[in-house]
Amino acid sequence: MSDANCIFCRIVAGEIPATVVARNEHALAFRDLHPQAPSHLLVIPVRHVDSLASADNTAELGAVLSLAAEVARAEGLAEAGYRVVTNIGGDGGQTVQHLHFHVLGGRQMHWPPG
Ligand code: 5GP
Repeated sequence: MSDANCIFCRIVAGEIPATVVARNEHALAFRDLHPQAPSHLLVIPVRHVDSLASADNTAELGAVLSLAAEVARAEGLAEAGYRVVTNIGGDGGQTVQHLHFHVLGGRQMHWPPG
């Protein structure tokens, strides 16, 4: 349910400060500590899930993704466009082992991301 050694579980618990912008029953959205775009939010399940590879609750995933779209609208990103991405495992570039979707916007995104 919660992992005491997980940074994002500790943010959910209020033990580590974060700029929380929105939440719903299953998900929390907060600003990334090292933003890579003018708007850079992280949207996570409240419950500890290692990554998308082990996510198995479709209601929870739906709540996380709908919160991602909601915060993008609230940030004013919907019209110009934005990117939602999740990194999985070492080759995927995942550094925090708690499922999170990056919501990036406010500048032109490029492809491939590198
Ligand atoms: P990943 O590399 O796993 O896809 O993304 C992890 C993200 O978490 C990075 O963008 C990093 O800046 C962010 N991050 C790491 N530690 C913290 C923290 O303590 N607070 C916040 N708000 N973001 C963090």
